Amino acid sequence: MVRAEQVHKSFGRLEVLKGIDLEVRPGEVMCVVGPSGSGKSTFLRCINHLEKIDSGRLWVNGHLVGYRESGGKLYELRDREVAAQRREIGMVFQRFNLFPHMTALENIMEAPIRVKRLPKAGVRDRALALLARVGLDDKAQSYPAQLSGGQQQRVAIARALAMEPALMLFDEPTSALDPELVGDVLEAMKQLALDGMTMIVVTHEMGFAREVGDSLVFMDEGAVVEKGTPREVLADPKHQRTRDFLSKVL
Ligand code: ATP
Ligand code: MG
Repeated sequence: MVRAEQVHKSFGRLEVLKGIDLEVRPGEVMCVVGPSGSGKSTFLRCINHLEKIDSGRLWVNGHLVGYRESGGKLYELRDREVAAQRREIGMVFQRFNLFPHMTALENIMEAPIRVKRLPKAGVRDRALALLARVGLDDKAQSYPAQLSGGQQQRVAIARALAMEPALMLFDEPTSALDPELVGDVLEAMKQLALDGMTMIVVTHEMGFAREVGDSLVFMDEGAVVEKGTPREVLADPKHQRTRDFLSKVL
């Protein structure tokens, strides 16, 4: 579903991704951990072409991200083609970026109507079903300001799902939440994983990684230091850097 080959990315002289090789199979939940500044968010942003990679190759769902390859050469995709690629990917950030002037239901309906131009009645039914799926069927008419952070984040997940993505990216979706609100969001993500969604989750929630993750990646200084099953990486880290990091977060 996702393949990264020798992905490099620099900001000016700062090399943030130093040759990332990773593969995420369909239905896999890959959790990514690592210290602040190690390049986790940048890697996610490269996957949906919010950042352009400097070299290497990235594929999502069989498509080369941001480029077309022809006769051994790469050609940049047009904006419209990039937008079409992005529609296959749902992204949920640390801060819930809901539209404040729209209800939960309207937030979820917005993109399918505006971008996909689907008929309103069907979109509404599906949006209500998505709200139920994240445990918020009673909040359809609430505005973001009337919802807790955890509820807003679940609306953000439902909103991403409304576009029927093939892949979901999560960038520390619970780290801005009060501790008592984290569980409901992780539960919604777990349900999504059980439904077979392919997910890359940057998180420091090791309980989630252990229980829900199929794989766990430890990134440090722009490189994948370690990858394995969560059990392998957590119980028997191979590298000292991984051990040092885990001793701080576990
Ligand atoms: P955190 O755990 O704090 O979220 P991270 O692993 O997600 O960290 P990134 O946000 O990917 O780290 O940042 C990696 C490095 O790239 C950092 O040193 C950051 O300052 C730098 N960086 C990120 N985006 C930009 C940008 N647009 N311009 C310049 N430098 C950037
Ligand atoms: Mg980050």
